[in-house]
Amino acid sequence: MRKHIFNAGPCKLSDSLLKNSAEAVLEFNGLGQSLIEISHRSKDFQAVMDETVDLMKEVLSIPEGYSVLFLGGGASLQFAMIPYNFMKSKSFYVNTGTWSSKAIKEAKMWGEVVEVSSKDKNFTYYPKGFEIPNDVDYVHITTNNTISGTEIFEDLDVKAPLIADMSSDFLSRPVDVSKYDMIYGGAQKNLGPAGVTFIIIKNEMLDKVVDDRQIPTMLQYGIHIDKGSMFNTPPVFNIFAVRETLKWVKAMGGVKAMEKLAKDRAELLYNAIDNSNMFVSPIVKEDRSRMNIVFVMKDEYKEKEADFIAFAGERNCVGIKGHRSVGGFRASTYNASTIEDVQALVGAMKDFEAKNA
Ligand code: PMP
Repeated sequence: MRKHIFNAGPCKLSDSLLKNSAEAVLEFNGLGQSLIEISHRSKDFQAVMDETVDLMKEVLSIPEGYSVLFLGGGASLQFAMIPYNFMKSKSFYVNTGTWSSKAIKEAKMWGEVVEVSSKDKNFTYYPKGFEIPNDVDYVHITTNNTISGTEIFEDLDVKAPLIADMSSDFLSRPVDVSKYDMIYGGAQKNLGPAGVTFIIIKNEMLDKVVDDRQIPTMLQYGIHIDKGSMFNTPPVFNIFAVRETLKWVKAMGGVKAMEKLAKDRAELLYNAIDNSNMFVSPIVKEDRSRMNIVFVMKDEYKEKEADFIAFAGERNCVGIKGHRSVGGFRASTYNASTIEDVQALVGAMKDFEAKNA
């Protein structure tokens, strides 16, 4: 039996991705070879790459003038590559938790980082209405905070180039890409298996690369745009899997349909939390993530947290243990999660509470 998977990433993926990827690994396109045995420069793989890029542009309505890249190194390499390429001396970061803190650490190597942060309340809200100095090289935000469980649902209007880490809410709602100069993330949540990084970058950003800095070739965006993500051997299996996700999203009705599902799943689970006498959400209501639903037990039940994780496991709900830095629970409900998955968890919560409260 397939479990109700709430892992934070790697995480639940669509059945069509699993099935089609498994088949392609055994034999691809009737070639008598596996997908992972053929050259990345073969016409069969080039067709996969081209279709994946085209589907990204179609599914997210990416305007003209942007490039789509699939590289290695994870979102974490982007934390370093972004300031290496674009930070002359000053940047602006919205610090909403662990991942943005890591991004800030890399940027500080290149000068001053002006920061607005929700650290004062343990990252339980998303900062709003902040002033951005006029002279920053770019603004960096993390749209969904996988660990703290907050999310921003609007596309900000800012003067400086806007760069967003969308690792954990990519494709979960329509995004006005024209407001961003770069969007990036690790694939291992809504897009596919771990091992590939997606980057959507406005070509004009190449004019903003710091010109008096020597940048290693592998870390130059211009090279990867020129070479169509084939400067070195790309993660071929992962790109194939991303294509399968994009086909699935399209068949499901696109990002609008993904947004509706995300809202429905999140509402079901947050309602169960808010109506419970045992569980509670520490996150400010309007900033609650639809992707990573963080909750804890009220103080009087704290010692029962491990028991609940075991109880949920008996109901086939896996992956709900909170991140070690936050504790409690985190149910990650990415695009491939179903209402039935969430219903199973809500059922376990109610039954556990009836027995133990
Ligand atoms: N940003 C966010 C929001 C994340 O959730 C993660 C990973 N969970 C990262 C960055 C780091 O991604 P990677 O492991 O691909 O480097």
